[in-house]
Amino acid sequence: MKRLTAYALFLALLLSGCGASADPDTAQESIQVIAMDTAMLITTYGERSVPAAYAAEDCIRDLEAKLSRTIEDSEVSRLNAAGGEPVEIGEDLWELLDLARSYSDYTGGAFDITIAPVVSAWGFTEDSFQVPFPATVKKLLMLVDMTSVSQSPYPLTGEGPLTASLGPGQEIDLGGIAKGYAADKLVEVFKEHACPRALAQLGGNVLAYGGRPDGTPWRVGIQDPARPDDKNAFAGVLELTDAFAVTSGGYQRYFEQDGKTYHHIIDPATGYPADSGLTSVTVVADCETPEGYRTGTMCDAFSTALFVMGEEKALDLWRSWTAPAFELVLVTEDGRVVVTGGLKDRFTPDESSGYAYETVS
Ligand code: ADP
Ligand code: MG
Repeated sequence: MKRLTAYALFLALLLSGCGASADPDTAQESIQVIAMDTAMLITTYGERSVPAAYAAEDCIRDLEAKLSRTIEDSEVSRLNAAGGEPVEIGEDLWELLDLARSYSDYTGGAFDITIAPVVSAWGFTEDSFQVPFPATVKKLLMLVDMTSVSQSPYPLTGEGPLTASLGPGQEIDLGGIAKGYAADKLVEVFKEHACPRALAQLGGNVLAYGGRPDGTPWRVGIQDPARPDDKNAFAGVLELTDAFAVTSGGYQRYFEQDGKTYHHIIDPATGYPADSGLTSVTVVADCETPEGYRTGTMCDAFSTALFVMGEEKALDLWRSWTAPAFELVLVTEDGRVVVTGGLKDRFTPDESSGYAYETVS
């Protein structure tokens, strides 16, 4: 896909008011990237804002080429087509498989990348939506099992290829985790390019890197899931510096059939769209941790999984989790917004939204 330079220029003009600025504190570049089935917007600041923005785009495109299951020669497509045989993979996919396995464990299987055949049966892979027969769902569910995915140990000596294999008939779909991993990688890109601040919106995955040019935090609105068509309707606003905020919700991708709505987050326990009483889950975590955790990946996997698990189990996991820390904003079907204690000073309710707000500890 080609770079949307004209759009970027227009946006840069709009944002700076006077076009490209020579002032290193206010110089900025804003580009739109269509990748991973998502419209992304990356805005970088500082003297090297232009190379930083394009390096971010290159990073995302490189990951998409490896990780998309709709790109025929991607590593994921080769793995999916290998009929259970081991396939040579690169470091990114190796690391993602490793992380995906951990998040499957931590969430009791609510997050499971081997859900791919079921996601396809619902038509979410190719945008050919349909309600599958219950017998089809039942049959495909037998393929959903992360424990059948294996991968070579990481060769500490740097020798030998990295490989992975799936169980017979299995396929993987990284749609619930790859954008978070990409956001983690963007932190590295911004550092390499000495970019002091940036805002990267990869669909529902937001990276607020540094703070705003005036030193205040970035303001990131949480879409009101009850009013998805009104992009200015928020359940609340987060104030973030050096953090990820990742939102999953049934309103982001869905179709209607016979008066019923079916969305794209599938409960691996049933094979049907998750129906847990939540309308959206936002997971927030620092993008820099002393241990160098991939917290963007964590936020993405958890936003999908906790949407499946529902309020009670989500809060249980939040309470029992040790490190790296994360915080939650849960929007419920019955009109509540539940905010975890660590966001107390970083979340502002939208009183006009009609929600009842609760803070939990
Ligand atoms: P989005 O991709 O819209 O940002 P999510 O991060 O919540 O939203 O990911 C949803 C995608 O993840 C689905 O489109 C599908 O590809 C995949 N998926 C659906 N259900 C699950 C699940 N239970 N575990 C892992 N991945 C899932
Ligand atoms: Mg996700």
